[in-house]
Amino acid sequence: MRIFDRNVTMKKEDFEAILNGSRDVTAYMQVKPQEGITTCFGVRTASNPDYLVKAIYEMYERSLNRKLAVKAVAQLFRSVGLGSLGLYRLLQKLGMELSPAQFLVLVFTLQHQQGWGAPLTLVDEQERRIILRTNQTFESQVLKEWKMPVCGIHVGWIEGVLTAVTGKNWFCLETKCVANGDDCCEFVADQREASWKWKAEAITRGDSAITEYIDFRPLEGKIQLIDDPVVMMPRFIFTSMMNSLTRTMGEAPAGGVNYRAYMDMGKENVAHYKKMGISNPNTLADMAFTFYSQMGWFRIIRMEWNEAEKVKTITLEHTVESESFGKTGKKVCYCTAGLLTGIVEGAFGIKVQGKEIQCRSKGDEHCVFEIRNRPNGA
Ligand SMILES: [Zn+2]
Ligand SMILES: [Zn+2]
Repeated sequence: MRIFDRNVTMKKEDFEAILNGSRDVTAYMQVKPQEGITTCFGVRTASNPDYLVKAIYEMYERSLNRKLAVKAVAQLFRSVGLGSLGLYRLLQKLGMELSPAQFLVLVFTLQHQQGWGAPLTLVDEQERRIILRTNQTFESQVLKEWKMPVCGIHVGWIEGVLTAVTGKNWFCLETKCVANGDDCCEFVADQREASWKWKAEAITRGDSAITEYIDFRPLEGKIQLIDDPVVMMPRFIFTSMMNSLTRTMGEAPAGGVNYRAYMDMGKENVAHYKKMGISNPNTLADMAFTFYSQMGWFRIIRMEWNEAEKVKTITLEHTVESESFGKTGKKVCYCTAGLLTGIVEGAFGIKVQGKEIQCRSKGDEHCVFEIRNRPNGA
């Protein structure tokens, strides 16, 4: 967000006065109600947009849960924070050397006085950790009924400002929130590299959704999920492929070929995660299940493990194949069965075989898969 305009000459003293509280932004604000224009430092501004804030949060909440909606808002406002680089450069030019935390405090003071951000108090500043507090933020008031840490606007803003001025990646966590019943909103920002592993683990834990990391460049014909190229394809590719194979080799062999191919894909997928630094077998399996689920392949209802029989049972609400085929009176999920089996085999380094025992296409409520040890690794 640009809060400075080259047509308005701001001096070092002006910013210092705002920082030390001897002046406030009203000295630099112009309200022209007839024209519907309010400016601060010559730049258009507006105040207290409760409706806008609520609408943004609720838009994300429609497709995510509340925790992930807060994250999505943070991501949006990260870009806003990144825009503060212009002001930072101006201050440097004016000979005003502020530390990243001091600059953050200035940005929020300016915003707060225009009716937006909260006035942040600096609690602790180290090279790689900054802690800030405020009595309340506007989003903690607007979203009070969510009863959880909701200040994604401030979180994203803080991350963006710090990333812009330090050139390094910052990750901010809201550790206390008025909307969560705490006595203040507290933000802990850490400077750390956002590696593939770190992002993928956050998705697996449910702290992020894959949408946060989809780099969609439709005009270039490219999509990346974190750093991996992915493609979108129509779901009917599953019926199309199966029907084509069935015509050339018959139904049972076609199912077997699909099972085998997707099993190899599941294994290769896990091998890729290993290469990216994930080693815990349970994390590897959960990561693959989570990614495929979030990519639209299925929704996991439950996973059970029978220790005595060494059988893993996976119940899915819908699979890409059962949705694609519809009701056929028989089981259709060969690709999914292969994929799940390959994931388990790759993650745990054991020889297993998988079978679909219930299928929505056959008329069952869910698609249920059993994965058990393959005798003698056959
Ligand atoms: Zn808060
Ligand atoms: Zn099925």
